[in-house]
Amino acid sequence: MVFLKILPLLIPLIIFLIPIIAKNYIKFLFTEKTNRNDLMFECYKCGTYSHESIVVKKEGKNFCSNKCASA
Ligand SMILES: [Zn+2]
Repeated sequence: MVFLKILPLLIPLIIFLIPIIAKNYIKFLFTEKTNRNDLMFECYKCGTYSHESIVVKKEGKNFCSNKCASA
């Protein structure tokens, strides 16, 4: 079987690739999280960009503050 002949050659390759794949996967997870944390929304009323954590959501629109949301 050809597969059994190339298997010893594949094992070091797999061992070599696992840390690279794992590293990229962790990086991917971290990047996803970072991007989500850095999300900015434009205020529907005044156009100011506000961070996701302080944005006021009302009727499907994003506002920078309660002042803009109620005005
Ligand atoms: Zn505003």
